[in-house]
Amino acid sequence: MTKERFFYFATMKFSDYNISDEIKAQLKVLGFNKPTDIQYKAIKHILNGEDVMAIAQTGTGKTAAFAIPTINILQKKGKYVKKGVKCLVMVPTRELAKQIASVYREIGKKTSVKVFGLFGGVEQEQQIATLNNGVDVVVATPGRMFDLISQGALDLSSVKFLILDEADLMLDLGFAKDITDVMRFIPQKRQTLFFSATISKKIKKLAYDVVKNAIRIQISPKNPVAKTITHTIIDVEMDDKRFFLENIIKENEESKVIVFVRTKVRAERVVAAMERVSISAEGLHGSIDQKERFAILERFAKGENKVLITTDVACRGIDIPNVDSVVNYDIPENPENYVHRCGRTGRGKNRGQALSFCSSDEKELVEAIEEYTGDKIDRFDLSKGDYLEILDGSDDGGNNWKKLIDEENKFNDLDLEW
Ligand code: AMP
Repeated sequence: MTKERFFYFATMKFSDYNISDEIKAQLKVLGFNKPTDIQYKAIKHILNGEDVMAIAQTGTGKTAAFAIPTINILQKKGKYVKKGVKCLVMVPTRELAKQIASVYREIGKKTSVKVFGLFGGVEQEQQIATLNNGVDVVVATPGRMFDLISQGALDLSSVKFLILDEADLMLDLGFAKDITDVMRFIPQKRQTLFFSATISKKIKKLAYDVVKNAIRIQISPKNPVAKTITHTIIDVEMDDKRFFLENIIKENEESKVIVFVRTKVRAERVVAAMERVSISAEGLHGSIDQKERFAILERFAKGENKVLITTDVACRGIDIPNVDSVVNYDIPENPENYVHRCGRTGRGKNRGQALSFCSSDEKELVEAIEEYTGDKIDRFDLSKGDYLEILDGSDDGGNNWKKLIDEENKFNDLDLEW
């Protein structure tokens, strides 16, 4: 599992592409010289005006695969078509909306294409004012988008591109109806680009409802896990997991680590457990106020906080530079999420490691992951003595019952999901 993740095409460079000089110059600034596999396969078709249905995971460069050609077309046509949203990117989470809008802005920096990330959890007035000033690309989550459509503040009647990103997560989060509903507000004559990290019957059905004669693209279907990551599983019982996490973080103080847990409550608990042993960590989950969620991600991206403890949804698709390790504190119940979680590290050309804590109750979940990826994950052999040493080495005496009971009461106020 040590090969490079991106499959570059030696002969093809962005400088050879039929795209504007402004985009080429900016790609150079970003250090994008050659297209990645998904970019190589998708950009030419999008430039040709074709619909695309692609199975590609984050980390493969898929955002630029749709941003480069759509910006190029919008840039050329921008002067002639009437004001209004011409490209709608629908995404499942606010973090993704923000991130994809920023990739669009970066790539289109030297062009006049205006981009806007539209999501809930922030004031509407400012959003309405921005829309009134005219934007070309809107990257939106469904909730706020429909709110503003119903208020007449968002007009999608001039949309030329509909892009659905992370469509499988959209389905998981119950947005299938939103996808079909949005069709009522956008022209039938349009180009549709459909991106999903995984494929299932349901996804196929949804895709065929929205794309026409699509070009089908699939990136490394057999082994969707990025190749720059080493994967290890270690057997750790549920109650011992915090000691192992403490040990790893203390042993690797300079490392940036994302720790995935199953629920909001567990995120809070693990943060508290780390605090007890003087490790500063931040938790990220769906009950945290949106502004604060962005601030948490930013602090982590900048390295001001090095340990992020998060649930799946809050972190899906997020591109944070230089994450050294992913720890699966809880094994994900859905094997696809293993792929997404591990994709947070080893991004671009960096290397990363993914370590999964597997309790006796989670063995079946690991088997399901191995079946899904088609790869056996390496086991970390730990002797009983070493295991006990890790528990003994903890700075958490575990005797502070009052604090634990207080925490328990606090956690009971949170509901038990993402
Ligand atoms: P994505 O899959 O869109 O989240 O992209 C994953 C990472 O790959 C991002 O950090 C991009 O900046 C980077 N990336 C995308 N395309 C290229 C490229 N052609 N060359 C180098 N890095 C790239």
